[in-house]
Amino acid sequence: MKINLSLPLVLIFACSVVHAQQSTKKNPESTEIWEPQPRIITPGNNPGDAPSDATILFDGKNLDNWVSLDGTPAKWMVSDGAMTVVRGARDIRTKQEFGDFQLHIEWRTPPVTNANQTGQNRGNSGIFLQGRYEVQVLDNFDNKTYANGQAASVYKQHIPLVNASRKPGEWQVYDIIYTAPRFNNEGRLLIPAKVTVMHNGVLVQHQVDIWGPTEYIGMPVYQAHGKGPIQLQDHGDAVSFRNIWIREL
Ligand code: MG
Repeated sequence: MKINLSLPLVLIFACSVVHAQQSTKKNPESTEIWEPQPRIITPGNNPGDAPSDATILFDGKNLDNWVSLDGTPAKWMVSDGAMTVVRGARDIRTKQEFGDFQLHIEWRTPPVTNANQTGQNRGNSGIFLQGRYEVQVLDNFDNKTYANGQAASVYKQHIPLVNASRKPGEWQVYDIIYTAPRFNNEGRLLIPAKVTVMHNGVLVQHQVDIWGPTEYIGMPVYQAHGKGPIQLQDHGDAVSFRNIWIREL
């Protein structure tokens, strides 16, 4: 069908478009959004302090929010406001499970006492996101190891952008922003997990795609899952943690 537009009609249309564009330019309110307003929260007083909407996972006093992987009480040591790996007590995990989140966690590797403590055998622990995907904890101060297994690596997957390690015995900080993987109803991966990591305030992992659950040997393969815990690794070294809080997104 052929549409005959008369010249006056075309002119009226063109003029109204120009008029609309001009009024948008003149009117700043036309691009303002007022509702909904963001939720009001209270930020911490100092960097690293939990904001008012965070869930405190460890406040330095007890392991009430943690259990061993088999669900029995966590057997790590709590003293001086920190929890410390007890060799052989195995990994611990949060009772609560999470999807997408912002996680703040502080950690400290023990002093080096033995010349045999090199590579992966120096202050090794780890933070398993949703109980599956490890952000490596390691004393990498003047200690070389494979780059995709050093501190702040996504273990055996992503090398950190820089080595921002502090000396053993000093407290270090990870701020982790994590987006869980998405699966379809048949359990097929739609979108891989994504992670951003700041190590001592320095960007070291920038929105990297996680390839699948952390494997020591071989390539990872995704398995569909829902929410999962934060899991901390007992790798035999007396690594300490403190001030752990999370905000589910
Ligand atoms: Mg580890």
